[in-house]
Amino acid sequence: MAVAARGFAEITVAERGQPSAYTLVIPAKASPNERYAAQEFRDWTLKLTGVEIPIRETTPVAAKAIYLNREKPDPALGDEGFDLEAVGGDIRVSGGRRGLLYGVYELLERFGGIAWLDSGFTDIPQTDVFKIPSDLKDRQLPAFDRRVHDWRQISSDISFSARSRINHYYLPERHGRSYPKFDGPLGWGHTFSYLVNPDQYFDEHPEYFSFFKGKRQKHYSQLCLTNPDVFKIVLEKVLARIRHNKTKGNNVKYYGISQNDWNGYCECEKCAAIDAREESHAGALIDFLNRIAEEVEKEHPDVIIQTLSYMYSRKPPKNLKPRRNVMPLLCSIECDFSKPMAENRFEENVAFRADLEKWRKISNRLMIWDYAGNWRSTPCPQHNLRTIWENTRYYRAQGVTELFHEGKVLSKESQTEELAALKAYLASKAMWNPDRPMRPLMERFCNAYYGKGGPFVLEYIDLLERQPVDETKTPIIYSTTIDKMPWTDEFLNEARGLWRKAEAAVADESAAVKSNVFWGVFCADYSLLSKYIHGGEWRPVIVSEKFAASMDRDKFETMRRIARDIVAVLDKYPDQVVVLSSYLNDFRHKALVRALAAAELPGGGDAGGKATVQDGLITYNDFPKSKTIFRERDEGATDGWAIHVHKSEPGWAWTMTFHMHNAVAFDEGVKYRLRVRVRVTPEEGVAPEKAIVTSGLFDRNVREDVLSKSVSAAASKGEWVWVDLGEWTAKNDNYIFHVSSHGCTFKLDLFEITR
Ligand SMILES: [Zn+2]
Repeated sequence: MAVAARGFAEITVAERGQPSAYTLVIPAKASPNERYAAQEFRDWTLKLTGVEIPIRETTPVAAKAIYLNREKPDPALGDEGFDLEAVGGDIRVSGGRRGLLYGVYELLERFGGIAWLDSGFTDIPQTDVFKIPSDLKDRQLPAFDRRVHDWRQISSDISFSARSRINHYYLPERHGRSYPKFDGPLGWGHTFSYLVNPDQYFDEHPEYFSFFKGKRQKHYSQLCLTNPDVFKIVLEKVLARIRHNKTKGNNVKYYGISQNDWNGYCECEKCAAIDAREESHAGALIDFLNRIAEEVEKEHPDVIIQTLSYMYSRKPPKNLKPRRNVMPLLCSIECDFSKPMAENRFEENVAFRADLEKWRKISNRLMIWDYAGNWRSTPCPQHNLRTIWENTRYYRAQGVTELFHEGKVLSKESQTEELAALKAYLASKAMWNPDRPMRPLMERFCNAYYGKGGPFVLEYIDLLERQPVDETKTPIIYSTTIDKMPWTDEFLNEARGLWRKAEAAVADESAAVKSNVFWGVFCADYSLLSKYIHGGEWRPVIVSEKFAASMDRDKFETMRRIARDIVAVLDKYPDQVVVLSSYLNDFRHKALVRALAAAELPGGGDAGGKATVQDGLITYNDFPKSKTIFRERDEGATDGWAIHVHKSEPGWAWTMTFHMHNAVAFDEGVKYRLRVRVRVTPEEGVAPEKAIVTSGLFDRNVREDVLSKSVSAAASKGEWVWVDLGEWTAKNDNYIFHVSSHGCTFKLDLFEITR
């Protein structure tokens, strides 16, 4: 107050229409980082006020200076922190490797009012004067050393990543380089098979791999971590990667040694003894890693060995502690995200908290992999905004130093993850400082990103946050589909109404704002439609009189109208822009929407009689890059398309439930006849009479085949043939399967189901 009374409470950095009173001063022989920091300050100030502040690489002669300096920052700032200070009319920004640039952004954001809201979307307020308090003195250090999430284009837009203070992805020298990286092949997830490849070693050394179900296993196996040769092979590979990176001058410090993405841990006598003693399957793993880390340390004390504490290895060992150079990466994949971790009552979250609290006590460094993103019903309401923020705060309080919020859908261009840009913005802000209030940031974001539609979007967010969720009954995990979420039609319709109001409000706003609102409307529409389709209220193929009779015809008409709107958007934009689900399901979700848009009552099938299930409804994906299974044009197929399954490895099966994604309405317990139209071709060098594909149905409860028929290439003669699978007493959880017994390629046109 005394300062204000004396009349210099604020320093005017730039004022529209006036020549610049300041000079940006960087050291002589400035680093690319210092030069870039000065350019950023200059360029954004110019956009803000129309004033260009000159840059000098010397001690200034000008009266007023903004000093940007990375030369000798206080070591306490580390690589990320910065100091801001106003002294006698001058402004000083100093910081570490990345901290200097963050300091510049802090000034522009906090006092200039600039906000980098999304890749390609910056909010620059209408202002004539850029002022800074004359008593400014601020030191900031981030809540986490490594800050990473993958919402929106953060991983591919270097500038946006740096402005968001996300330091994990590639950053060039001018941005201060990224935080020390994980090795490429030895990255942060699932490296056992890379380290000891079963194709290379299993035949001669089955003892390198997990022992379970009574024998050493090649498939869906892990490593035998007490085998001395495995230790030697892994150590050699890790050391080779370290030497490679050091020779190349790569910014790599972390080497991942972690389990494959399935169970199958080793139960041999030695491994099992350690696990039993440690009361956890992390026992043999940490024992192994500690021995590797001890050897690595002799040559490379700076290197961190990282591992996943994931699924079976999530529970910490009872006695063992990770060495100081071992970092567990603890994964919350089983957890609910509709409520913050610290207050969550879902049993998986309760167990996760207990594991985390133990890991942090025994670990020198700890990283978290949090799963707020949704891989299945990606555009649908998730109720996780507060969770993203509060989880970040909770992990910081637990002493976690590196944090990854996984939010991605498959494509970087995707526009259809619900509120993704807002989640990205909040996640970035929270990882820097989760103690500031979230609400003003959210309001700031919505009012700029959605323009005059912002108040309606905020109303929608409040409506979503008010929805009752009971995580103990309907947990929302990374793979929960909308039909399993607690959202009522009333809520989803109200949400659509609010987005429609937002749309009307932005009629005369910029194309960017309109586009932001447009995708919000799309998500809201798709959510209601998706609940209808995936909740099973409608099926594209109906061989059930009961189902056809019970359909709500008015609702069908409404949903078909929405489906037609959605299809218009699908036709307008490339697949990677309109992602409805993760890559395993996206094609099917789209196929179902298209089927509904084109459907006639009762739904496209001949209810009660005979119906066909085209390949588009039963395939997983439509990715041309998949080498093993894809959909392709085929003149001999009834609809011109077929699923092509190409895999020579014996025993590899392709499975799908009729019931899955509700493609077919049938009556459980009723008898149907199933036929499948296929074409089998042997791969080169395989005798036609040996090339066999077996098709059928599998009951996963009793774990046996219900129907099974084999076709040789000789029988198929390279032509399309009908295979009668026989009579099937319908059960919801029966799987369709195809197993290639010998090297062959087969194509599938359709199924026929007759009541
Ligand atoms: Zn073992």
